[in-house]
Amino acid sequence: MRTHRIAAIGGDGIGPEVIAAGLQALDACAERDGGFRLDIEAFDWGSDYYRRHGVMMPSDGADRLRAFDAIYFGAVGAPDIPDHLTLWGLRLAICQPLDQYANVRPTRILPGITSPLRHVSGPELDWVIVRENSEGEYSGVGGRVHKGLPEEVATDVAMFTRAGVTRILRYAFEIARSRPRKLLTVVTKSNAQRHGMVMWDEIAAEVAREFPDVAWDKMLVDAMTMRMTLKPETLDTIVATNLHADILSDLAAALAGSLGIAPTANLNPERKTPSMFEPIHGSAFDITGKGIANPVATFWTGAMMLEHLGERAAAARLMRAVERVTADPALHTPDLGGTATTAQVTQAVCEALRGDNI
Ligand code: NAD
Ligand code: MN
Repeated sequence: MRTHRIAAIGGDGIGPEVIAAGLQALDACAERDGGFRLDIEAFDWGSDYYRRHGVMMPSDGADRLRAFDAIYFGAVGAPDIPDHLTLWGLRLAICQPLDQYANVRPTRILPGITSPLRHVSGPELDWVIVRENSEGEYSGVGGRVHKGLPEEVATDVAMFTRAGVTRILRYAFEIARSRPRKLLTVVTKSNAQRHGMVMWDEIAAEVAREFPDVAWDKMLVDAMTMRMTLKPETLDTIVATNLHADILSDLAAALAGSLGIAPTANLNPERKTPSMFEPIHGSAFDITGKGIANPVATFWTGAMMLEHLGERAAAARLMRAVERVTADPALHTPDLGGTATTAQVTQAVCEALRGDNI
């Protein structure tokens, strides 16, 4: 029997709630499959850990994760701790040293879910957003001088390297090539950001020559928000910088029905280090502890993790179970307009996985 070692980090807010739900679904999935088991180790890192120890995770935290095959992550962020401390102290402190440079965000409208776009109901919206996950606007370069004084200056340098841009664009072209439409849109802001973004455009044209079978075009990020909203059917694979894709993918999640269903994978495509799988959403303080967090994003992200671990059949089965559940409005959580609880949705997915025709 194949064994996959998973590090589970629930984190903050609804993070532990959705990770607990996700682990139940993954267990049911492994049991049904019969060919593999998941060896789960849970880590209590996050804001509670910070309140006790003054850090979000131990200083060798990222190194300890290297021993695992994948990381299943909830969310970070607490109302009483500045967001930049929690984000840089945990999520980015894992992504960056483990060189998870490709953030992949599939978006489509699952059965039974209504898009806020009136003209869109299904296959018109089927995207993969590839987000550069290691540099750019979130490179951490910058600082503040003359702090608190009238002449204070603060900078966040959007640092791009030729190597970093080339590898993410090549990865995006590869994803585009693997999809039926073989279509890639490269998003920049090269009219206003005239150094890094112009380099992106140039490297995109160079890398495109390696992929003559992929049709590609360029968009400015502001115009892209309109195209996503008004002409979603003209898009397929999308690649953008760390900041731009962060924003576009929240828009994408909303257009697909809810942030509560949107998954993401932080990948090291060369598999030199473990990749990390998480829902796109944050810790959602407004609904924490109420038992109504939508676990679908975490299930979908679990399916991406199974796929990454080579468990293709189990990943596809988990998605079929999820889609069967979303198709039933009685199993929609409040973010989707329903009244179902996290526990009810989780139980329904587990039952579907145990059923005959799945
Ligand atoms: P959020 O994603 O936590 O919540 C935005 C809105 O969506 C809220 O109304 C929330 O209730 C709703 N929502 C989110 N996930 C849901 C789910 N699974 N089911 C139902 N409703 C859901 O974003 P925010 O409010 O901007 O941020 C809250 C905290 O989370 C902040 O501290 C922020 O820094 C952090 N954050 C963390 C991550 C991450 O860990 N990757 C991502 C985004 C935000
Ligand atoms: Mn985000």
